[in-house]
Amino acid sequence: MCGIFGIHGHPNASSLAFLGLWALQHRGQESAGIVASDGDRVSHKLGMGLASEVFTGNALKTLTGNLAIGHVRYSTTGSSTLRNAQPFLVRWQKGYLAIAHNGNLVNSFSLREQLEKEGTIFQSTMDSEVIVHLIARSKEKEVEGKITDALSRIKGAYSLVILTGNKIIAVRDPHGFRPLSLGDLGGAPVVASESCAFDLIGAKFTREIEPGEMVVINRAGVTSHYPFKKVKPSFCIFEFIYFARPDSWIFGGSVYLTRKKLGECLYEESPSQVDSVVPIPDSGNYAALGYAQKGGIPFELAVIRNHYVGRTFIQPSQSIRDLGVKIKLNPCRYILKEKKIAVVEDSIVRGTTSRVRMKNLRAAGAKEIHLRVSCPPHRFPCFYGIDFPNPKELAANVMGIEGIRKFLGLDSLSYLSLQGMLSAMPQNGQNFCTACFTGKLPCKVRGTNR
Ligand code: 5GP
Ligand code: MG
Repeated sequence: MCGIFGIHGHPNASSLAFLGLWALQHRGQESAGIVASDGDRVSHKLGMGLASEVFTGNALKTLTGNLAIGHVRYSTTGSSTLRNAQPFLVRWQKGYLAIAHNGNLVNSFSLREQLEKEGTIFQSTMDSEVIVHLIARSKEKEVEGKITDALSRIKGAYSLVILTGNKIIAVRDPHGFRPLSLGDLGGAPVVASESCAFDLIGAKFTREIEPGEMVVINRAGVTSHYPFKKVKPSFCIFEFIYFARPDSWIFGGSVYLTRKKLGECLYEESPSQVDSVVPIPDSGNYAALGYAQKGGIPFELAVIRNHYVGRTFIQPSQSIRDLGVKIKLNPCRYILKEKKIAVVEDSIVRGTTSRVRMKNLRAAGAKEIHLRVSCPPHRFPCFYGIDFPNPKELAANVMGIEGIRKFLGLDSLSYLSLQGMLSAMPQNGQNFCTACFTGKLPCKVRGTNR
């Protein structure tokens, strides 16, 4: 996962890109980067860590020009190097080209192999670099044609922001796996993964960029093209369950309201006789609210989040890792003692974090714990950009639902059904990818670089 941003025709382009990345920081914390340009000269800065750690001191002052694009990258194991930071910047026949990519391509391995056989030299291990080479090699005359040419050979998930010359080009793949939106800041067009980035910089949300749409922004304004064959959209449902920020509007709906609706459906399917409903913050908060309001049950914020915890706390031994879970979240014993509670969690993936959390709730005095999960059990991998572990490590495959209940030490455990989840989505979930729950792939996978 990643967050991408672009702004055209604003004197403070790089500073606004920085703020935009700050608002998209939840989409990736491994590295951050900005490429800025005046249409002619280009400057860039990439670094490991959070946007606020990379763009310190005078960093933004060197990023001049009224065009800028930016990227924040999600931490996936093993690939945490500066070489894989984006935007990816190259020099080519038309000057320079920079690209910021969110998503995962599913045929990049075979394309890369083919390109390497033909003599192409790759600088990174990113699937996104394949796009750059295909663009550079295209026989089409104009940049838009070259990009279309390149993307027609690519399968999988991509929301892209490309900066070249005095143009910014934003594209969303025909399935529309990842979100991408268009905004306006006093006449300067802006694009961002999520609308929450527009809120921060005071830009107006114009609309979502559609699946298969290419938006070209130059001095003359914004034009829209649909160069690809239309296919049935497959929006990533996990964006609504966990990934996107609750104040964003994506895939035709509010993330906050959709999560709340997931909680309401969860109550309808799996009610509970309890003293209070307790969310696991932050991702479980909204479904828990929906669950509590639907059931008329008191809502208690009995698990307290420490906001000063940085990126995932990794420690070699399990006992220290378990303490690490407590650094982030600690139950409040004064509200839990002798209480029957329904705990609402957005998802269970490996089950290891949840196990420590449930143990801690017991230790704080909870008498009965009924865990309610606001999506179905995860049983399949994701090839389109969410970093789920190997299917053999997914708790639902390893031990089954009753096994998870025992493993977590619960009085009861229920998941939202597939139907229930879809009914909470905009347009009843017609246009969503549910591959991580059903194994049904919206587009064929031919070797990825995961
Ligand atoms: P588990 O019990 O499976 O170890 O962890 C479940 C928790 O991980 C849930 O609270 C869920 O919100 C969180 N989670 C789900 N997906 C992701 C992800 O992609 N990255 C991170 N950091 N947490 C996730
Ligand atoms: Mg969570």
